[in-house]
Amino acid sequence: MDRVAAYLRQHQQEHLDWLIDLCRIPSISTKPEHKGDVAAAVRWTRDLLARLGFDARVCETGGHPLVYAERCAHAGAPTYLVYGHADVQPEGDLRLWDAGPFDPVVKDGKLICRGAADDKGQFLVHVRAAAAWLEVEKRLPINLKFLIEGEEEISSPHLVPFIQQHTDLLRCDHILVSDTGMYADGWPTITYGTRGLLYKEIRLTGPKHDLHSGGFGGTIANPANVLAKLIATLHDADGRVSIPGFYDDVTELPPAEREQLRGLPLDDVQYAAGLGSPRVCGEPGFSTNERRWTRPTLDVNGIYGGYAGEGANTILPARAGAKVSMRLVPNQGGEKLSAQFDQTIRARCPDTVRLEILDHGVCDAYVAPLDSTPLHAARRALRESFDREPALIRAGGTLPILPAFKRVLGADSLLLGFAGPDCAAHGPNENAVLEDLDRGAAAVARLYGYLAP
Ligand SMILES: [Zn+2]
Repeated sequence: MDRVAAYLRQHQQEHLDWLIDLCRIPSISTKPEHKGDVAAAVRWTRDLLARLGFDARVCETGGHPLVYAERCAHAGAPTYLVYGHADVQPEGDLRLWDAGPFDPVVKDGKLICRGAADDKGQFLVHVRAAAAWLEVEKRLPINLKFLIEGEEEISSPHLVPFIQQHTDLLRCDHILVSDTGMYADGWPTITYGTRGLLYKEIRLTGPKHDLHSGGFGGTIANPANVLAKLIATLHDADGRVSIPGFYDDVTELPPAEREQLRGLPLDDVQYAAGLGSPRVCGEPGFSTNERRWTRPTLDVNGIYGGYAGEGANTILPARAGAKVSMRLVPNQGGEKLSAQFDQTIRARCPDTVRLEILDHGVCDAYVAPLDSTPLHAARRALRESFDREPALIRAGGTLPILPAFKRVLGADSLLLGFAGPDCAAHGPNENAVLEDLDRGAAAVARLYGYLAP
C-alpha cells in the first residue's frame, strides 16, 4: 500500500497531464455539433484504460457511446464497478470565464476548465488508483470494471437500457461513483443518499385569445388568477406540502442518523447570506440539512402566462401555467404521488378554466446502507489519506442511475466526492483542487486494497 501511495505521489504531474488532455476535448453532450467530441473523449478514456492493461471497449448505445473496461484480480475477489461520465455541460457565457473553458489552466493549486471537477477529474481518480496498483504490484486487489458514459449531462437516456441489456457484463458486488462534492474545503465526503424527483406541469386555458381586461375582466375566469390560487394551495402556512397523502410513506430518520447530520457544522445565517437570501425557512422541526437532504419538498420552478413585458398591457390572458418539481425521499413512491398530485389539482381546479397536467419525469430516491463493508473501508481510506474523519452526507439532488443500478444489478453505490464546495460545476471557471484529487487517488488506491478479501 505504501509503495502504491508513493507511486501516486511520484506520478502526480503525469496524471495531471492526463486530465488536461481529456479536458481539452469539448465533449458537450447536449450540443449536436460536439457529437464527435463526446465520442473522442470516450475513445480517449478507452485508450488510457487499455494502455493500463484493462480489457476496454467503446460500446454504442443509440446515442453517445460509452466505455466499458474490466480487469480481473482473481476469481475469488469481489467485483466493483466504477461509474462516471466523460461528457460535460456547455461552457455558458464565455465572458464569465477567465480563460477558455477547454484551455485548462493551473492556478493557485486548482485546475480551471470545464470538466475538471464534473466529472473528468473525479473519475480519473479511480483510473489513477488502478494505474498505481498495476504499475507497482502488477495486479489489482479487486476485480474492477469501468462504465464511463457520454450522456450524464443530458440525463443518461440510453444508460438504463444499456444496463438492462448487459446485466451479465456489468454484474458486480458494489458500485463506486466519484461525481459528488465535499462538504467543506479539504473535507473528504461520502454521500450516501439522494432524493427522487417528480416533475409536473400545470396548464390552464381560458378564453380562445387574450381579452381586454376592462371589457371582459370579472366576467370570464382569468387563468393567471386561477393558477395563483391553485399554487397557493400547495403549501400550508407552515411550509408543509399540502397534497393529501404526500407524507404518508415518509419514514422517520433513525435517531443516530439524525444526530449525525446535526453534527455537521452549518450556520443558517451564513448559509442564507451565501445564497443572497434574507433568511432560511422551511418545514418546522427540521434543521437546514434535514430539510434539504431528507425531507420531501415541492417547488414551483417557473410560471408563465399573460403580459410580462415593458409597461402595461391590460389583458385577461388566454392561458397560464406552472412547472412544478417535487423532491422525494426514500419509500415515497413516485408513481403513487404522481397520481395523488393529479387528483388533487383536478379536485381543486374550478371548472371555469380548462386544465391539463403534463408529466416531465419521475425518479425514486436512493439511500445506501450505512453499515456496509465498502462504506467502512472507504471511511478508513479517506481518513488516512486526508487526515480527517470523512463527512457522511446526503444530497438534495437526484441521481437517477443509483436506483437503476439497485433495481437492475441489485448493487448498492458508494459515492466518494472530491469536488470542492467552490468547484463551480456547470458554471463559469469550473475548477478542481489538485490536492483533493491527489489525496482522492491515494484514498481510492487504499480503498481498493481494503476491499480485497
Ligand atoms: Zn457529473
